[in-house]
Amino acid sequence: MTLKNYKKKRDLNRTPEPSGELKESRDQIFVVQKHDATKLHYDFRLQISGTLKSWVIPKGPSLNPSKRRLAIPTEDHPIDYANFEGVIPEGNYGAGEVIVWDKGEYDNKTIIDGKELEIEKAYEKGHITIFLHGKKLKGEFALIKTGYEKNKWLLIKKDDSEADRDLDLINEKPKSVISNKDISEKNEKE
Ligand code: MN
Repeated sequence: MTLKNYKKKRDLNRTPEPSGELKESRDQIFVVQKHDATKLHYDFRLQISGTLKSWVIPKGPSLNPSKRRLAIPTEDHPIDYANFEGVIPEGNYGAGEVIVWDKGEYDNKTIIDGKELEIEKAYEKGHITIFLHGKKLKGEFALIKTGYEKNKWLLIKKDDSEADRDLDLINEKPKSVISNKDISEKNEKE
């Protein structure tokens, strides 16, 4: 049960986050949630084996192939979490506001030693190549576990037609792709 840690960290009666179960689905999705917790960060989640495998990206994703973004693994989340926007109340794990910064389907493009590799195996190997169909994140990305430190991965944009060296994605496109709200706007409104 890969959602054990997710449930262990939360009292699901006290937070609006989804309770979540493992789920089969053909369309493989990814989501990036902007999370205004103790420190603002971006949670990158990839549907693998019925859950959302998750990484914290402190600086957020980039379309610039020369920017390698640190991605720190965190607990698996339920698939339903991909639509979660809201405020995790004070006193709960990850307290603070969450918006869906980007979301879409992805294609597994992992090839190792000339062979296509299933996404589950690519994840185990710590060597994932994915093509993202998001509203902000598009084209191929590599998500690579670094050799020396087990708990560190890197998210790197591949140098394809969707790469962009000039766009400051995080600051120029800060809003939710679901509600079109940014975190601070929502706070003011509520
Ligand atoms: Mn988070």
